[in-house]
Amino acid sequence: MRLNCSKPVAGNGSGTGSSALSSTSALSSIKVGILALQGDFEAHGRVVEELGHQPVYVRQERELRGLDGLIIPGGETTTMLKLLQDEGLFDPLMQFAERHPVMGTCAGSILMAKEVVSPAQNSFGWMDLTVERNAYGRQARSSIRSIEPTPEFVERTAPGRLEAVFIRAPIIRHVGEAAAVLLRDGSNPILVEQGRHLAATFHPELSKDRRLHGLFLDKIRSSG
Ligand code: GLN
Repeated sequence: MRLNCSKPVAGNGSGTGSSALSSTSALSSIKVGILALQGDFEAHGRVVEELGHQPVYVRQERELRGLDGLIIPGGETTTMLKLLQDEGLFDPLMQFAERHPVMGTCAGSILMAKEVVSPAQNSFGWMDLTVERNAYGRQARSSIRSIEPTPEFVERTAPGRLEAVFIRAPIIRHVGEAAAVLLRDGSNPILVEQGRHLAATFHPELSKDRRLHGLFLDKIRSSG
């Protein structure tokens, strides 16, 4: 599979020497934190490894140190919110996201949204989105769908339809001006970008397609 690694690396050729990406080891291996309180964090870890980078499972604040980006996996947001508070990780993650890229998948996208409904609950609010939890109803709780990517997604990754795995997924009901839709399932946005962050309502770690993780790694490289 072709991944878009052709983007210029931040700090490349600038000669500043201050960027974390200016050392050879950092260029060859990106340290990707994966919030590992609950949910399918290990599947993300395997993808990061497969792409030649270093997953770091995050359960405590000190494990955020030295990371280049963070993935918030799928799982159950009510449980994750409780554990984030219990472990004292909520505020440290807030600060981390001010300076580093974060990708949230499914439950992760719910935690990143500004507004959560059905029911309303707390969230980090990094993405200008309104997200409805468990919005597909009982019959369509889980599904695998073939998605025709937007031209922008293709341009930044590679061509071809994308398999998207939905498990008790949310639906993004509103996308604010600050956010841009990169993938849609019919009229529903399923991948949204805002600044350095990405939020997907599906589980890219459960498919063979590596384009979304590749895109996130590109964003980490260029945000250096
Ligand atoms: N239904 C879960 C929630 O609302 C999200 C499901 C998932 O991450 N697969 O928290």
